[in-house]
Amino acid sequence: MTGLVVGGVTITHPEREVFGDGGPTKGDVAAYYEAVAAWMLPELRDRPLSVVRCPQGSTGQCFFQKHHAESLGPDVKAVTLDEKDGESAQYIYVDDVRGVLELVQMNTLEFHPWGARVDDPDKPDRLIFDLDPAQGVAWKAVVAGAREIRERLSAAGLESFVRSSGGKGLHVVAPFRRGPSWAAVKAFCESLADDLVAESPTRYIAEASKAKREGMIFIDWLRNTRGATSVTGWSLRARPGAPVAMPLRWEEIARLKTGGAFDMKKALKRAKTLKADPWEGIASLKQALP
Ligand code: ATP
Ligand code: MN
Repeated sequence: MTGLVVGGVTITHPEREVFGDGGPTKGDVAAYYEAVAAWMLPELRDRPLSVVRCPQGSTGQCFFQKHHAESLGPDVKAVTLDEKDGESAQYIYVDDVRGVLELVQMNTLEFHPWGARVDDPDKPDRLIFDLDPAQGVAWKAVVAGAREIRERLSAAGLESFVRSSGGKGLHVVAPFRRGPSWAAVKAFCESLADDLVAESPTRYIAEASKAKREGMIFIDWLRNTRGATSVTGWSLRARPGAPVAMPLRWEEIARLKTGGAFDMKKALKRAKTLKADPWEGIASLKQALP
């Protein structure tokens, strides 16, 4: 078996091009995650995790996996959680780079954690607004939307952070002290999204079901529910060009052109040259959901 050892983990078929012909290989993906792990792990570790696995590469059939299996690797951990049907099941989490790389060996491209930690999965500690612009919406409108959410959160006493999704949009994330239930967090987010829509009904929409979104930004507040995930900062996306979800400083978002502005190559360069975490301070903020 030909293998490449990355961070102590054997990666088989490292030469396999997983983003289409001429694109990054499985070995490149492993090397990428090893290189960015120090930036990525603070947001990812010790949270129930869904991964997007693509055994045929990003152009083939990919699937979300949330349940643990021994075969994922010795450092891919399990946490037992209650499921909707009253049963319980083992979910995945990782707490180090070896766990990340073992998941890469199992053809993981994307990492999607919960907004709660494994030691208390019923008590979320961060909320998220996912801004999904319809086709043709100008980037500056997406930037304005993220800033409006930031201002409203700030008025509620919550400092927030922003990342590009690696796709079309931006995600605004706010940490808070554990305590409120998922239901309370969801209600808070729904009400904030509704206020935004009430003020600018031609720019924003907050209903997932509405088909008519032309020219508008869908403010997805529904990620704030038990079991929902969102992509973590520094995660690759299983999409053409190997884009990356990137944590940003608020000043940076106006300079981008899309949510997919960072690809693997640019992200690697950023990981090497960054002096401070763009989300510096997120772990030590002591703020409460109103
Ligand atoms: P974009 O900017 O292109 O919208 P995104 O990451 O925000 O990128 P969405 O389709 O808006 O993508 O999805 C938001 C989040 O919902 C994802 O980051 C992912 O964690 C979760 N999600 C999406 N589809 C699924 C799915 N089929 N199963 C589980 N979780 C999903
Ligand atoms: Mn989105």
